[in-house]
Amino acid sequence: MYYNEKSFLYFDGEFVEASKASTDLYGQSLHYGYAVFEGIKSYKTANGAKIFKSEEHYDRLRRSAELMMIPFDYSTQDMIDITYKLLEMNSLSNAYIRPLVICSPNMSLSKGQKSSLVIEVWNWDNGYMSNKMKVMTSSFERPNPKAFRIEAKVSGHYVNSILACQEAKDKGFDEALLLDSNGFVAESSGANVFFEKDSKLYTPKTGNILPGITRNTIFDLANQLGICFEERDFTAKEMKGVDAAFFCGTAAEIVALESLDNVPFKLEWENSVSALIQKAYRHLVVEEDFTYLKKQPQYV
Ligand code: PMP
Repeated sequence: MYYNEKSFLYFDGEFVEASKASTDLYGQSLHYGYAVFEGIKSYKTANGAKIFKSEEHYDRLRRSAELMMIPFDYSTQDMIDITYKLLEMNSLSNAYIRPLVICSPNMSLSKGQKSSLVIEVWNWDNGYMSNKMKVMTSSFERPNPKAFRIEAKVSGHYVNSILACQEAKDKGFDEALLLDSNGFVAESSGANVFFEKDSKLYTPKTGNILPGITRNTIFDLANQLGICFEERDFTAKEMKGVDAAFFCGTAAEIVALESLDNVPFKLEWENSVSALIQKAYRHLVVEEDFTYLKKQPQYV
């Protein structure tokens, strides 16, 4: 599904056949989840394959490594260049890009001594996720910022995501909404969350979430379209039954929620300002103009 005998990946200075690549079984990353990574997408545009927000993602990867004290000296531009080359070698334009920084063999609980950069790419041509997610409030909290560097994208954090997402699926939901250690809404297992009330958007402030690149892009789009938004704490109770809500992230893009704990959101998605943001985002990633959306009557 992710690779075949014709796929290449990048590993420590070389482009190698994915089916022949291997790693050390004594690495700190495998044993302790001590690795940092990114989730990036490229899109087919009129000007060829374009990696969306490439600088932001690779800057965050470098920052994640720094916060984890993992030695890592690739520049953002070098990683962008390598990724374009890799996309070309794999004949991909609509693709998911997964850079991963792993640490060398070391069983001690001390900082990384040497790291390796892996970049994997695979096809992401299968359209959008369903716009009708049924979500439950998770019994699992997001990692506490006093226990983890939550603004870093660290492999080990995703054990929490797996527990929450699987719990939701086992209970017949599509996804989990996790709270922070103060009981406020934080994010989903792999995306940020927004809700809409009276044509205004609300999203949790930073501090207990991964500050998403898509979340920032939504702020830019909202500013350009004249849609109001606010970053603040709120509870799951406050979010239930409001006009609309969505998850956002590089992989999910913007996906509408149908209900939270079986309480539906009020508006038809198409009549929400959130749907305008979703349309604008879909234009932006393929470098199309979206300013015509400003003229929509819903919010003027
Ligand atoms: N929160 C979590 C926990 C995530 O895994 C992701 C996906 N990286 C996001 C939020 C959204 O981040 P981004 O928009 O940068 O993809």
